Amino acid sequence: MSRLGHYTLLAAVIVSLVTTLPGEVPCCELNYEVRPDPTAGVVDVSLAVYGFDGDSLVLVRPSARPLVGLLAQDPEVKGARSGRWDVVDGAPRWTFAQPDRGWSDPIRIHYRLAITAEEPVNAWSVGLGPDLLYAPAEALFLTPEMPTQAAMHARVKIRWRLPRDWEVVAGWDEYAFHGVRSLLRTNVLAGSIEQHQREACGMTVEFAAQGEWTFDRRELADDMVALTCAARHRLGDPGIDRLSITLVPARFPMTSGNRNGPHAIGLVHRLPDGSRPSVRLLAHELVHLWQQYDAPLWFQEGVNDYLALRIAHEAELLDGDEYVDHLAAIDATYRANPHRQRWSFDDEARAVPAYGPSDEYLAYRKGAIVGLALDRELRLRTDGEIDLAVLWREMNDLAAWGHVRWTANEISDRAAALIDGNVNPFFGRFVHGTADLPRPRTLLADLPPLPEPRAERGGLGRVAAFIQATLD
Ligand SMILES: [Zn+2]
Repeated sequence: MSRLGHYTLLAAVIVSLVTTLPGEVPCCELNYEVRPDPTAGVVDVSLAVYGFDGDSLVLVRPSARPLVGLLAQDPEVKGARSGRWDVVDGAPRWTFAQPDRGWSDPIRIHYRLAITAEEPVNAWSVGLGPDLLYAPAEALFLTPEMPTQAAMHARVKIRWRLPRDWEVVAGWDEYAFHGVRSLLRTNVLAGSIEQHQREACGMTVEFAAQGEWTFDRRELADDMVALTCAARHRLGDPGIDRLSITLVPARFPMTSGNRNGPHAIGLVHRLPDGSRPSVRLLAHELVHLWQQYDAPLWFQEGVNDYLALRIAHEAELLDGDEYVDHLAAIDATYRANPHRQRWSFDDEARAVPAYGPSDEYLAYRKGAIVGLALDRELRLRTDGEIDLAVLWREMNDLAAWGHVRWTANEISDRAAALIDGNVNPFFGRFVHGTADLPRPRTLLADLPPLPEPRAERGGLGRVAAFIQATLD
């Protein structure tokens, strides 16, 4: 398309975006009051919803994860009849019909969670002790369901309160949310907390640790800053200027991380030898913060894992040997997977339950090697001008306009457009198929140098990318 055509269309799209977005949001302002009672093992949550004008109110906990807080008492809406309960894609939700007199303003809702463990098992479970409430927001907050993705991203005012003597580290300021999608990925940590704060590359990085630790927490905070700046250089503006990393002890020996929001990473950790969370885990969770889109698991987790290792290497937290060793270990797990010659990623997604140990999934381990192979493909075919990070940035640019869920075919189309070529054979063999991937050492050989990241693009570039996507 000619440049002129591009920008004429661009003007039309801006107008339609501005006129259609606000009307699709039936909601509102959300005020949560959270009252933990460690002795009783319960957390009471009161929610006031201001400005709601939908026909029926649907409250949802949009997470199918087990162990994220057990609901002890169904939500009750003051003045409305009991809600109808069902489960959609594994996520429970309650539907309340509008009362005959119409909705009150605010609508007052109450529900209760039972949390019987003092410490969480992993980074997406919960713990409630005398001085600790650890809960990813998906465990704590029911939210009104939004009808469209645009509404999920639209600005919704959210305010919340914990008991006065509890401190919260969540990486955001009050009223800073854009939409319920952000709220649902936010970390809640309260109690006696050791904090370290760093300013670097235009970002504030807060690190908060609860509990007794034998390793140096400052060093962990410094590593996080190095990773943050390397990721920012490579993947662009993350859309936030503040992020928080929280660390709490696990109930059992294990190590686990979770991206708990656009601002927050939660680490739940305890190893018998007292060692710290690995650079690989930190990098993996950090790179998730640069993933403003949803994608199939092999991309969201596996390709993420590879890119995170590459960025940790670029940040000089992994030397060349350590980098290759990590990839070799991932490759060995992939090759040991008994299903690797029978299952595509789609076959696996149909056959196995979600949320098992990541070593058991082709999506994680083979996905990482696919990430390395895709990076190589892009770089070799463009003489080093395009790499995986460029593709990643494009995918994020489109997420800014509500294009959030990428299918494998959309990723393949975008990659093909970037290199002005065809990547169907690659995706056919390795993503949709079960062909054996080359070994990491082979995939790392004779690569052109990495491209210099492009300068940050402003809004116009994003709109142009959006238009291109709608035309494709
Ligand atoms: Zn992950």
